[in-house]
Amino acid sequence: MTKRRKTVTVKVGSVKIGSAAPVAIQSMTKTPTVDISRCVKQVNQLVRAGCRLVRIAVPTRADTAAFAKIVQKVTIPLIADIHFSPQRAIESIEAGAAKIRLNPGNIKNRKDIHRIIDAAKMHKTAIRIGVNEASIRDLKIKDVPPSRRTALMLREMKKYVRLFENRNFTQLVLSAKSSDTSRTIEVNRRIARSFNYPIHLGLTHAGLPEDAQIPSAITLGTLLAEGIGDTIRVSAAGNPIIETKIAKQILIALGLYKRTEPELIVCPTCARAGIDVIKLARKVKKALAGIDKPLRIAVMGCIVNGPGEATDADIAVCAAKNKAYIYRNARKIATVPENKIIPTLLKELKSL
Ligand code: SF4
Repeated sequence: MTKRRKTVTVKVGSVKIGSAAPVAIQSMTKTPTVDISRCVKQVNQLVRAGCRLVRIAVPTRADTAAFAKIVQKVTIPLIADIHFSPQRAIESIEAGAAKIRLNPGNIKNRKDIHRIIDAAKMHKTAIRIGVNEASIRDLKIKDVPPSRRTALMLREMKKYVRLFENRNFTQLVLSAKSSDTSRTIEVNRRIARSFNYPIHLGLTHAGLPEDAQIPSAITLGTLLAEGIGDTIRVSAAGNPIIETKIAKQILIALGLYKRTEPELIVCPTCARAGIDVIKLARKVKKALAGIDKPLRIAVMGCIVNGPGEATDADIAVCAAKNKAYIYRNARKIATVPENKIIPTLLKELKSL
């Protein structure tokens, strides 16, 4: 189990953020906010997929009005994503946002930031200070070297944190994002050394899901393995349920998420395989869908290495030519022809 970096606890509605609480997965809705029923539906899908916080963009007055209604219809705390408008920030806070995400660099007037802080204090709304590399003016100069970039992002973060603390506001979550893996890791390490506020992690603009998952896993996984990160979001262009599934896999791999569904282990196959392992694994995966027990099921292509590699599995299928040996907790319980593998597995699953 990864040892988390110690932070203060920030309350985001009913969800606690910080080292005393589990790492929370969040995502964003991708439906128009004004389309309340689709937005609510997507929030509910995200909750079922494992999200504990959902962020919603509110670029217009109509969006904050819709946000107020969405808050009433869902069971989890919602975060309003603010870009340039102080008015949207205040409307969202008044609409019931549990947290707002704000890049203070995008709000030029100091008095406006003070108004937002005062509204957040009054409504007990948390604020995430989100510093994005792309929005720092000094970083738009192309030849700023990588080391200077993280220093400038940290400088911005320190400036904003001071601004909030000077107004006695400490319900803060910090985030610094870049689309560059190394810089995102580096800047978050520096933020972790400088503050004890919870950190939200993400690799921004990571690409299509198939391109986003490995860089996101490396970036978030590296930081989480060092104990850094209290909420995470995988940013991928596409269905947010996929973002959530990738985020969940990252946390599971690090022992930071309690699995509730079966885990399928499959051997990579080689010339020893006595069966079409991939076809069998796909069938087993289908058979496991809908089972909500944290079981470990193994599909192995042979009995040379299969039984040994699957010792930890609750049930293991180790194939031989046109048949398979079924193991339960490393003990052989049956030898079945190929067409009986799935029915036997399902029977065993029911008894677990
Ligand atoms: S379990 Fe057997 S078939 Fe699968 S990769 Fe290992 S040796 Fe090859």
